[in-house]
Order: sequence, then structure tokens, then C-alpha cells
Amino acid sequence: YQQHLQTFCALPACTADGVKVTLQANIELPDEADIALKNGATGIGLLRTEFMYMARSTPPSEQDQFEGYKALVEKIHPSPVTIRTLDVGGDKFVQDLSLQDEANPAMGLRSIRLSLHEKHLFRIQLRAILRASAYGRVRLLFPMISGVAEVRACRKILAEVMDELRKEHVAFDENLPVGIMIETPSAVFLADLLAREVDFFSVGTNDLIQYCLAVDRSNEHVAYLYDPCHPAILRALKTISDAARQAGISASICGEMAAEPMYSLVLLAMGYTDMSMNSCGLSRVKKIMRQWHSADGHALLEQILSRSTATQIAADLRQTVLRHF
Ligand code: PEP
Ligand code: MG
Repeated sequence: YQQHLQTFCALPACTADGVKVTLQANIELPDEADIALKNGATGIGLLRTEFMYMARSTPPSEQDQFEGYKALVEKIHPSPVTIRTLDVGGDKFVQDLSLQDEANPAMGLRSIRLSLHEKHLFRIQLRAILRASAYGRVRLLFPMISGVAEVRACRKILAEVMDELRKEHVAFDENLPVGIMIETPSAVFLADLLAREVDFFSVGTNDLIQYCLAVDRSNEHVAYLYDPCHPAILRALKTISDAARQAGISASICGEMAAEPMYSLVLLAMGYTDMSMNSCGLSRVKKIMRQWHSADGHALLEQILSRSTATQIAADLRQTVLRHF
């Protein structure tokens, strides 16, 4: 079956009725680019930069980061690379940076909060990303945004760093797209306002499910409650997509929900034509997309959005898969 799936890697990603879909890869280290390309990714939808900081005692220097990002950007060119700033904390531990004494680290001083707290590290990372943007197509992504003020604080520092580079005559992409992860409930409620502040949304369903449903994503005792089919999650995803469309910005998915073919059909029906996932999920999603008529998505979406429980929604999705594939 793996071999059968391999045959899809080189085929275009589109539905049976010709709707183009962009399937990209989530990677943890720049040198995973080859695996992503081999699996047919047309770009890197998420570089989780914190992995460059993990398993070492001091943060990587600006030059170290720049070289890693540059090599990746050049390899993926002309497709884009979305580089997410440091997203430590919660389930990702970085020596010397992760706080040891937080009772509730998933809601603690983590991710963008840590970057805004440790501004010197944030600036170093932004400099490295900006410098790499001169070598290909880079998109900058801020994680775990919970409100407009936070986006503005990030953009202010970004503008300062850009100014600094201009003064030093260091090249970077002046039109670098700047986006945010939508992965907290407050970001969903504010999606219309946030959409005015950025060039794109990237929906992190892994955390969105955790925070919306109040279910620790790494706690096996409550894993049965961690359900992408929960009606609240579907409503949240719809709200985000609608807000992005109304504001004229793009919204993509980079949570692993996109890697489950059944869910990818729902995401597509909501208007998410860009999805990024672990490289090994790409061909199975492409396979189902190529057999799917996007026009059938309207009825499916209407049906599942009218349901009140995850069990009913999961049953609808299974029925759809059985009927069509
Ligand atoms: C997510 O939260 O869905 C996401 C893509 O980021 P991470 O899994 O790294 O938190
Ligand atoms: Mg996340």
C-alpha cells in the first residue's frame, strides 16, 4: 500500500473536478526538506524552529540559524517556506528557556509570550529569518497569538529589526508575508480583527483542539475527549475561514487534522485549499482529494454543521468515505 501511495507523490494535488489544492509539509529541522520534497510537498507550510533550539545547552546563534534557514529556503525555491518563530513550552522543552516551575505550562510563559519576554532572542531569530528571506520565498509566522495587541507588539519589533538591517545594508524581502497561528479560542473569536493585522492565517488544529476543548493534547487520560469532530471545533474552523475570506487573506491548516483524509475533505469544503502536514500524510490526502468532487463538499458541510455531537459527525464522515471511495 505504501508503494501504491508513492505513485501519488508526483501527481498534481487537485480534486476530481479540478480544484487546486496546495499540500505542504510540516518539518522540525531544515534538513528534513528532502523527505518533504520526496513526498510531493510543494513547499514547507511549517518549520517548527524550536527543534533547532532543543537538545542543546545554548540557543543557536544568528549565523547558525541563518545558515539553516537559507539552505532550506534555497532547496525549496521557488516554493515558499513558512518559518514559525520559537514555540517552546507546553509539550516542547528547551534547556535554559523553558521554565521549570510553572503549574500549568500549556498556559504559561511559552511560545510568542516567551519571545516577547526574551526580546534579545526574538530579535536574533527575526534577523536570521529576514536575512534568509533574501534567498527565496519566506513567510514569517508567529505562534500562539491570543489577541491584537500581541500581533502589534510582534510587528513593532519586526519593523525595528527590519530598520536595523536596512541601516546595515543587509538584504531581505521587504514584502515578506507576515502571518499568525490561529490556535487559541480568543484568536478564533477575534479572527475578523486579527485578519486586518496580518497577511495570512495558519490554523494550528493540534493546539486549537487542546485549548478549545480544554483537553491536554499529551494527557492520555483525557485523550478520548480530544476530538477534531467536536462541533465546537468545526464551528471554530468555519469562523476562521469565513473571517479570512472576508478580509481577503489566505488561511491554511498546519495542524495534523489535515493529514487525516476524512477530515481533509471537511477542511476543503470550508475553503481551506492550503494544508500542511507531516510528510508521510501527504500522499494519502492527495489520493482522496483526487477522487473527490469538491461540489459534494457543500452538502457534507451543511450536514455535519447541523449535528450536535462528535459521534454523529464522525458517523457522517465515515458514511461519506464509504459512499465515495
Ligand atoms: C498546532 O498547534 O496545530 C501546530 C501545528 O503546532 P504545534 O503542533 O507545533 O504546536
Ligand atoms: Mg501549536
